[in-house]
This record gives sequence, C-alpha cells and structure tokens, in this order.
Amino acid sequence: MNQKLGRKKSLSRKVIMAGEERCVYCADPPDTLEHMPPKTMFKDRYRLSGMEFPCCEPCNNGTSAADLVAAFMSKIGPLIGKGDWELADNHRQAWMLRKKAPGFLEELFGPKANSEPILFKTDGGVLLDRVQIRTGPIGSACLDVFSAKLGMALYREHIGTNLPLTGAVNAMWFTNVGLGQDTADTLLSILPGLNALRQGKSDSLGQFAYRFNSDGVGMFSCLASFHKGLHVMLFAMADPELYDIPVVIETQRVTRPGGLLAMMPKPARPHNWNIPLLGTP
Ligand SMILES: [Zn+2]
Repeated sequence: MNQKLGRKKSLSRKVIMAGEERCVYCADPPDTLEHMPPKTMFKDRYRLSGMEFPCCEPCNNGTSAADLVAAFMSKIGPLIGKGDWELADNHRQAWMLRKKAPGFLEELFGPKANSEPILFKTDGGVLLDRVQIRTGPIGSACLDVFSAKLGMALYREHIGTNLPLTGAVNAMWFTNVGLGQDTADTLLSILPGLNALRQGKSDSLGQFAYRFNSDGVGMFSCLASFHKGLHVMLFAMADPELYDIPVVIETQRVTRPGGLLAMMPKPARPHNWNIPLLGTP
C-alpha cells in the first residue's frame, strides 16, 4: 500500500517537474514540489490534489513558517471553541509553530500580547465575551510572505507561466475581523470567476476558495478565503507599470519573485541555558 502511494506520488512529481527551469517563487532551478495552499491549511491535513508547483528547496523550506502561521490564523475565530476541529488542528500544529516560527504564539497570546477584551455580537444578536488579539511583527511578516506566495502560485496556475522576475504581487491580508462585508462585496463584484481545489466530486469550498479575474496573459487578481479566519486580496502582474492598481488599504505589500526569503522574520536567538555553578562565589 505504502509502496503504491509512494510510486504514484513520485510519478506525478516527475510530471510536474519535467522541463521546469525555474522555481515558482524565484530565479533558481526547482528541486522540490510546493503545495499552495499547504496541506496544513486543511482539516486533518487532508488536501485535494492540484495546485502543486516546482519550487527550489530554499524557498520551499525557508517559507514553511509562513504557511504554518497562515494555517493557524485561518482557523481562529470568535465562534471557534472547545470541541471544534479548528481548535484541535491548531493544537496539533502548535509544536511545529514553536519550532518554525519562534515567538509567534507568544506575540498573540503571551503576557505582552496586544489584546483587549471585547463583546462580540453574533449574527443572531447574541453578545459573547471574547478577546481580540492583534497580529504582531512575526505573524504579520509571515502573512505578507504567504500572501505573496499565493499570488505567484495562482498567477502560474491561471496564466500558465511563472510570474516574470520583473513582475510583482501586490497583496493585502485580513484576519477574521479585518474584512468588512461591504468591502468584501465591493471586491467580489469585480471578480467574476470562482475556483477552489477540485478532485473528483470533492472540492475545497468552505476551506479554501477564491474569486478571481485575469486577462489570461499577464494579470491575475483574486480574493481568496481560507476558512473563516484569513482572507487575501491580491494582484499579480507581469508588468506592474501597465496596471493602475487601486490602493485599498495602506498595509498592502509589493513583492517580486526572489523577494520572499528576505521578508521572513529572522529566527529568534536560541536560549542559552545557564546552570549556576554550585559553590562559586
Ligand atoms: Zn525559489
């Protein structure tokens, strides 16, 4: 059984990698397969096939913390609590998050976290005691990287070629309280297409889906939603000068292929354990 699965995987990898000269995210030659969105984004890591891209090892491994942070943020929300699969998924990922994105969880939930108690009103008008948390520098840098990755990957998926090295992704992300319904409706009205991962009769709607528009040649834009907690609005353009991109909010980031690793938060210095020497004065 394992052997069969393994063989199938390597064959499909071979087909995807065949003749590829460039990583989907930078100028280097590819030697790994990148899943965008990553497996960790999906419930129990069960991901439908599709949207797999040739990628170099430094981009793939060097940005995996961004994927983990995005998956985590997509699964938190005011109505998610004990017994919900989202919480269980996040608990399972916590050890990996601590390893790959040290400081991220402390930034959100630690004693110095930027948080405040709020009353959250449900659609039915019920008021709930909740704590609103703000993403800190580590989480924000990771979500910037994730959004740029998504733009380059979906550009490749829809246009059929890698985003040129002179191209750019203009992206902004919103966590569960950041995107108002009015803004979402306005953005969705200019994005006619709907897509998700599809395999047989299954699809990823509800976990990952996006509305998009594209000229099929050198411009792709979309609003992607991951569960209820994370939304990314982006424009990926082969020639950014050609398009007059509306500035929706000031926090949007512009990223070019090859620029991802420099945007990752620098790993915190490992702790040095100090053992007091007994008997020394
Ligand atoms: Zn690369």
